[in-house]
Amino acid sequence: MHRFDTLAVHAGDAPDPTSGALDPPLVTSSAFAFESAADAAARFREGTGYVYSRWRNPTVDALEAKLAALEGAEGAVALASGMAAIHAALTASLAAGDHVVASERLYAETVRLLVEHFGRFGVAVDFVDATRADALAAALRPSTRVVYLETPANPTLAITDLAAARAAAPAATIVVDSTFATPYHQRPLELGADLVIHSTTKFLSGHGDVVGGVVLGDAARVEAVRRVGVRTAGAAPSPWAAMLVARGLRTLGLRMQRASASALELATRLEAHPAVERVLYPGLPSHPDHAVAARQMRGGFGALLAFEVAGGRAAGAQCYDTLDVITRAVSLGDVRSLITHAASTTHASLTPAQRAAAGIGEGLLRLSVGIEDVEDLWADLEQALSSCG
Ligand SMILES: *Cc1c(COP(=O)(O)O)cnc(C)c1O
Repeated sequence: MHRFDTLAVHAGDAPDPTSGALDPPLVTSSAFAFESAADAAARFREGTGYVYSRWRNPTVDALEAKLAALEGAEGAVALASGMAAIHAALTASLAAGDHVVASERLYAETVRLLVEHFGRFGVAVDFVDATRADALAAALRPSTRVVYLETPANPTLAITDLAAARAAAPAATIVVDSTFATPYHQRPLELGADLVIHSTTKFLSGHGDVVGGVVLGDAARVEAVRRVGVRTAGAAPSPWAAMLVARGLRTLGLRMQRASASALELATRLEAHPAVERVLYPGLPSHPDHAVAARQMRGGFGALLAFEVAGGRAAGAQCYDTLDVITRAVSLGDVRSLITHAASTTHASLTPAQRAAAGIGEGLLRLSVGIEDVEDLWADLEQALSSCG
């Protein structure tokens, strides 16, 4: 088995047998011709060969092979977005009357999906502090089917110990949203997770030019997700999007290595800056979950960090508004560095007290570090901090 960077370049990319093309052809066809009634019947029956692009498509197949190789998974199913991937993984795993134990630090749309959508179909959910395996174990019921986790988690970069979660919930299907880590830094399946999810919109495609998602795991579970999420519910990715995600994946290792090294450097400098109250980065010894992150992540701690500007909301907003190289935008995992002010965007619907309880100060800024020169990023942060300090 080849190593990560070799797989990123080559997995799923055998030369096209008809033309010899090195890059997998972009097949946009919605349907595929049959030789005969017998051929059509065989493809329908066996689920092999191509029939219709909502079911399977060669460009999407090539992407799935590359994603599975990088995650060390038996199977992968690509979907139209990260949220489509989460919806499909949960739909395949749950039925009315089932119970979910979820981390209280989840992507906000995932919380809405669990509470507002699955709640209407008779699925109960409890949110717990997943950094504590005892809290997770205490929330389990006989009807608990799924434990849903996200690590590192937005925006405080809280880390869930996945091996401890597996030990605490041996019978549940453990689903991990690993978007912030990417398979370069973290492989949840090796730590006992059953299904891994990525929003491929983020680091995996890496260029901020496509929306997509993936679910990975053993072949049987992934097939169940594919059947409902893609074939029946129809959240298939477009072949155009699949091509862009596959192109981005070929440089994933290079991009993560650069961005993670820059994130550690910026986090270290920010922590020493007088205008900064605190820095949250799993690679800093001051992060509450640093020891777990050091055990379960590898090759670095990822490209996301958060910092609290002294002086509260006004100072945070002032610093945010003064940035020049670093772009004010949602999303993350782009080659461009992107920054969000949690209190005015992702966590604006919470009261200041609720934000405080979630560890989110009014001046908290979340930075997704890109691949620009780290000295230009630091110069930008320094000039912005001098304007608000
Ligand atoms: C962006 C994101 C999602 C949702 O993915 P989309 O591709 O936007 O649908 C889910 N989880 C995490 C952690 C994310 O960052």
